[in-house]
Amino acid sequence: MTSIMHRHLRQTPVTAVGASGLSITDSAGRRYLDASGGAAVSSLGHGHPEVLAAVHAQLDKVAYAHTAFFTTEVAEELAMRLAFNAPGGESEVYLCSGGSEAMETALKLARQYFVETGQPQRGRFIARRQSYHGNTLGALAVGGNELRRKAFAPLLMDVVRVAECYEYRNRPETQTRDQYTTVLLDELEQAIVRAGPETLIGFVAEPVVGATLGAVPPTPGYFRGVRALCDKYGILFIADEVMCGMGRCGTLYAIEQDGVVPDIVTVAKGLGAGYQPIGAVLARKYIAQAIRAGSGIFQHGHTYIGHPCAAAAALAVQKIIERDKLLDVVKARGATLRALLREAFGSHPHVGDIRGRGLFLGLELVEDRISRRPFPAACKLHAAVKVAAFERGLIVYPMGGTIDGERGDHVLLAPPFIVSDGE
Ligand code: PLP
Repeated sequence: MTSIMHRHLRQTPVTAVGASGLSITDSAGRRYLDASGGAAVSSLGHGHPEVLAAVHAQLDKVAYAHTAFFTTEVAEELAMRLAFNAPGGESEVYLCSGGSEAMETALKLARQYFVETGQPQRGRFIARRQSYHGNTLGALAVGGNELRRKAFAPLLMDVVRVAECYEYRNRPETQTRDQYTTVLLDELEQAIVRAGPETLIGFVAEPVVGATLGAVPPTPGYFRGVRALCDKYGILFIADEVMCGMGRCGTLYAIEQDGVVPDIVTVAKGLGAGYQPIGAVLARKYIAQAIRAGSGIFQHGHTYIGHPCAAAAALAVQKIIERDKLLDVVKARGATLRALLREAFGSHPHVGDIRGRGLFLGLELVEDRISRRPFPAACKLHAAVKVAAFERGLIVYPMGGTIDGERGDHVLLAPPFIVSDGE
């Protein structure tokens, strides 16, 4: 028995007592190879001495100072670095404590931007069906993951919903990639027009879909089309890079590879790489500037925003990624891992697709490879894969979902950037 309300209330998970590199050790002395960095979090592996030292040093200096009174050197330096490297250049940065909080912040920032610029009638978001943006009420509302939303549906704001870009499952054989992309963008435009563009705040999407679909990248040109539609109708484009960002895809931001600059980007997981809970919102300068010129106050804020120890961890992680040229490592190791997966599972009867970017790779599991028919929901295949892997000492991140009555199972691999050839 335990007093912690664990995720599964009838199960107590294994107790982790140590962690180093890609390895986590439990209280029985078993070691697990962390091939997914938890949920694409631990991008530098476990126990990285430089990150630990940076957090220790910050604890000694200023462990906490409330942002109503103080800023700290470390938070300022982190924000400066993030702003400088943001997609499209200079942005302003809001530091918070995780992915859901980053998304809540982004949604409220976008809404307040329109309130401050004389468009208070803009009150709805447009987002995609197969998506996950976090578990707090605003983030859950924009996400389309039915399993996670179901119990809370009466509490969620109304969101305009369009199809995700999911070529493997949704592109008919009769369509080329370009045609499929055009169909999606046409649907998006029709949805915008139907809803009334003047009522919409922003389009929210994960550049590479993580938890819901398993590392699904967009088709070429999809996000360029999204950007053009957002510009045409004056809607903000909010890119949720909580999972796919911070180098995971081989560029600091996944969206860089699509040649597009969002208005707002959210990051978390890999930002602090698990050493501290931290998230960030990067808003293009004109958004913060509009609020600065208007009321001057962003009506938001939590007790732990700009936390110095979290900032110290994230700053150390950022410096290591740059110094050790880990983005190049991610590209190279990602290509190796993908080739190995193709070799091992490329003709496996139940692996329908191997996809992703960098060290953010997904395998889609299907009952029938030819028709791409998923396994029946009752199989709970993803859960079985998780247990089977864990029993063999391997941590991967399998997920399944039921959307529009259809089920899909996938396995996400997101090993730390420091993964060796042997591992
Ligand atoms: N957005 C995306 C794309 C995510 O994958 C997640 C978490 O998996 C979140 C937001 C929420 O982040 P957190 O769990 O840190 O609140």
